[in-house]
Amino acid sequence: MKSKVALIALTSVAMCLLANIGVGQQSIISSATSQITSAREQRITQMAEAMRARLIAQRRDFHIHPELSNREERTARVVAERLRELKFDEVRTNIARHGVVGILRGGRPGATIAVRADMDALPINEMMNVPYRSQNAGVKHACGHDVHTSVELGVAEILSSMRAEIPGTIKFIFQPAEEGAPAGEEGGAALMIKEGVLENPRPAAIFGLHVMPNIEVGQVGYNSGAAMASSDKFIITVHGKKVHGAYPHDGIDAVTVAAECITALQTIRSRRVDTTEPLVLSIGIVQGGNRFNIIADEVKLEGTVRTLNEDVRKRVQALMRETLAGVTSAYGASYEMQYEEGAAVTFNDPKLVEETLPVMRRVMGESNMVTRKPQMGAEDFSYYQRVVPGFFYFLGVGNKSKGITAMIHTPEFDVDEESLVIGTRLMSNVLLDYLERHAQNR
Ligand SMILES: [Zn+2]
Ligand SMILES: [Zn+2]
Repeated sequence: MKSKVALIALTSVAMCLLANIGVGQQSIISSATSQITSAREQRITQMAEAMRARLIAQRRDFHIHPELSNREERTARVVAERLRELKFDEVRTNIARHGVVGILRGGRPGATIAVRADMDALPINEMMNVPYRSQNAGVKHACGHDVHTSVELGVAEILSSMRAEIPGTIKFIFQPAEEGAPAGEEGGAALMIKEGVLENPRPAAIFGLHVMPNIEVGQVGYNSGAAMASSDKFIITVHGKKVHGAYPHDGIDAVTVAAECITALQTIRSRRVDTTEPLVLSIGIVQGGNRFNIIADEVKLEGTVRTLNEDVRKRVQALMRETLAGVTSAYGASYEMQYEEGAAVTFNDPKLVEETLPVMRRVMGESNMVTRKPQMGAEDFSYYQRVVPGFFYFLGVGNKSKGITAMIHTPEFDVDEESLVIGTRLMSNVLLDYLERHAQNR
């Protein structure tokens, strides 16, 4: 309550100054504005600190009850109930199956922005002997989406309590199936967008975060421009001709041809694409043949292509077809390739990053903002960034002194739960700061 009174007093100081604006008074106004900003940031810190126990309890609840992609029924129900309790203006459910969108309209006019958390877990066994270990056999929140969802609910609570002073609207997106929909199903960010999540109202910008165990708790990692890779999947089938293993010249050996293809495909990386452009072409599955003394007539190769540039991504696909056509025809074989485009390049809008960094530095402390190299992992947040400018940053959750170092997607993955408080405080400030900067009646 005390801080509210202080804010009102500071707001009236600013109003008086604005009414009497004159030469030389700019600096006084900006100092009054920065006092208001710092009072607001302090209030958010107090609220986030006071929520610590509840944030941890919420994260543990999600961690105990993890749900696979497109099966986030319980998680979505908990989220929707919470948003209704917080008296959100609108709570939309069942978007892209279990997606939830909450709309929070502030008391002052302004822009619309969005914040996104993902809700799904992974088919990984829980190996941690902790009180909040997964009770869903074979499923674990091993990518920290339990943290993302809890942080976004924490932000929802803080901002809903401040709604009268918020200049604009915030769209809270809770997304299913970030890890990829099960075979034969659609899902994730692409389906959310298809079902209109970025319309009515359309956000001017979108923010998101991901936990990162190789960043210590208390720090945040970020970079401008390409931050994470595009991620595509391919399935190549090499067709040959089956024959007795003793008479290979009478058939076409799909195994030998496939081996040539594997080697030739790597020359796309080493010889055909600009060497300064990051590119990964990995084959993870080779399958073919059915007996030691029979020449195989078919070999399947499955793999992934990762790039940080959409032009490179398109070129690689064309080069793969060219290479496969050349190599297979040289041996009288043939091929088919199924190429499925997955997540796009996660591209942090440089202008949005630049204008957001000051508030992040204030909240985290300059030395806790860590610049990172782009990663070749992928994230379907990229789909939103293709429609509106977005900023996706990494929340430090590691703690070497406590032994919390296991990477995401491993059975040993865990987080330092202090990151919940930090994540909530930071994202609340990032969102409010954007809206204040873009307020119509500044
Ligand atoms: Zn993941
Ligand atoms: Zn993830």
